[in-house]
Amino acid sequence: MEARQFKPYFIVIGLMVLTSLLLAYTVDVHMTGEAGIQVALPEHITEWTGKEVRYCQNPKHQGTYLAQDIPDRDACPDCGHELYMMSIDERRILPSDTAILKKYYEHPAGQAVTASIVLSGADRSSIHRPQLCLTGQGQEIVREWTHTVDLDGRGPLKVVVLDMLRRGRMQDGREFEHEFYYAYWFVGKGRETHSHVMRMFWMGFDRIVFNVSHRWAYISVSGSRDSKTGEYVGEIDNFIQAMYPEMALR
Ligand SMILES: [Zn+2]
Repeated sequence: MEARQFKPYFIVIGLMVLTSLLLAYTVDVHMTGEAGIQVALPEHITEWTGKEVRYCQNPKHQGTYLAQDIPDRDACPDCGHELYMMSIDERRILPSDTAILKKYYEHPAGQAVTASIVLSGADRSSIHRPQLCLTGQGQEIVREWTHTVDLDGRGPLKVVVLDMLRRGRMQDGREFEHEFYYAYWFVGKGRETHSHVMRMFWMGFDRIVFNVSHRWAYISVSGSRDSKTGEYVGEIDNFIQAMYPEMALR
């Protein structure tokens, strides 16, 4: 591994030491409710139409639904349990004041993507490395790479793309493999990065230099992936280019 790859870690460690010293001698860091983006997923994004994803939190059922497809958006059509914006696992992991938005978008040409925005709450631990919760239970990361999305009127946006593979067994016993992707980046007030380490750096930097802690957002886009055609890369571009301007602060 090249030495420069270690550099951000040293900066983070340095900042952590500095932060603990400063915290010992100064007043509390000012927590702001400010986010760096418009926290909204509109129903229509250019040609894409979005439906809200609802989760049954009955531990024995855990069904997933699209709000528009069920009679009562707050009650599970199969078991009657309450429906929420996040899955049972997400609710278990995330602090209760974490805001989460998730929509399933369809394009008339047949593509579909799920977009989500997770906005950290007061304790700021809501956002962690996505790699941690995406693996396990027959799911693995085949490849992790950085992709650059060209955007109008500004420089390109860097996102991390995880090429994922899920292996499982169907009810009739046959095995299946499902290829999908998961692309993400982070946004803070006046900050944007695809790197988890850089996000940690900016959080520490803003705390120390400006004495503030903003609410960071973690934005993700996921969908099916055909490793033979690689067409999903164009789909990522198409969707993010449409979605990005919707999230810009006005
Ligand atoms: Zn249910």
